[in-house]
Amino acid sequence: MIWFVLLLSLTVYAEVLRRLLGLLLKRRQDEVPLLRRELEKLNEEDAALRSVLEEEKGKLSRTAAIYELTGEVCKSLEEDKLAAVFREQAVKYFGGEVHCGFFRQEQIPEKRREGEYFLPLSIDEKMFGYLGVYGLRMEDKEQFQIFGQQFILGLKRAELFKRVQTLAVTDSLTSAFSRRYWAERFREEILRSKRFNYRFSFLMIDIDHFKFYNDHYGHLVGDVILKETAAIIRENIRQIDLLGRYGGEEVSLILTETDKAGALFAAERIRHAVESRQIKAYDEDLRITISIGVATFPQDACEMESLVDSADKFLYMAKHGGRNRVCSAS
Ligand code: GH3
Ligand code: MG
Ligand code: MG
Repeated sequence: MIWFVLLLSLTVYAEVLRRLLGLLLKRRQDEVPLLRRELEKLNEEDAALRSVLEEEKGKLSRTAAIYELTGEVCKSLEEDKLAAVFREQAVKYFGGEVHCGFFRQEQIPEKRREGEYFLPLSIDEKMFGYLGVYGLRMEDKEQFQIFGQQFILGLKRAELFKRVQTLAVTDSLTSAFSRRYWAERFREEILRSKRFNYRFSFLMIDIDHFKFYNDHYGHLVGDVILKETAAIIRENIRQIDLLGRYGGEEVSLILTETDKAGALFAAERIRHAVESRQIKAYDEDLRITISIGVATFPQDACEMESLVDSADKFLYMAKHGGRNRVCSAS
């Protein structure tokens, strides 16, 4: 009897255990699809994160490449060359449908359409144009800002270099070339004229009785006279002629590819223009005259020093002949 009760209880326990285990198993089995879905979701999220990462990596390396453009931009200090690099690189980075360049204020459309961006170019708060682009994709806007800034820096460099160069080679009062730079250009002109068998003429110009104006009206008035005289001379010559400040109140002028007859004609025109102009210097209305000595390459001399000597000699002759005149070897 006792064995029978024991066996029965064992059987009952075994059945209870089996059912319990079955229940647990079933619950686990029910969880499998849920867990699978969970795993799939995680995999999808992982793939999405990877693609964002790749995209960011791509963007980062493009941005780094744009920053490296600085090297390319720094190669030139000429605006035209910089503009060419700008266009070429813009197509490379933003695609062939992009058009870009430098624009002046009046060239900028009042209403911007999609894909049109303009970055201002200014130095010392003075605007000198815009760096613009047409046909840019929306998503490239941010990178174009960085891209454009590289070129703006390059352009500023070029503009400042131009200003420094101008300051280094010109006299601040008359804007004529400084004596040293002018002498370099003089030597170049001699070489060029020798090579191509050209003639050119050299004029030494001196203000008559300048000391009187300085002493009588003061140096500030004297400075205005000097400045205005240089401006009148410049109005009466071609752009290819070279005006230099030789000494105190003497200016020297090279008339390129000009023979003696042409030089005498030009010198007379300059002399007459100065004589007829009323110069306003502060409260004074003044009239001045100039004397001019002319020497021509190669008939009077072939080297810089001898040409200067020759023109100087004829200037002296003009002074002694009564001033306000042009003299040259006949
Ligand atoms: P001439 O008719 O013989 O030429 O008489 P001049 O009085 O003009 O004599 P000169 O050409 O020798 O005069 C040169 C004067 O120019 C002397 C100097 O004081 C003056 N000068 C030179 N450079 C400057 C300048 O930058 N500003 C001013 N105001 N005067 C200058
Ligand atoms: Mg003088
Ligand atoms: Mg003098």
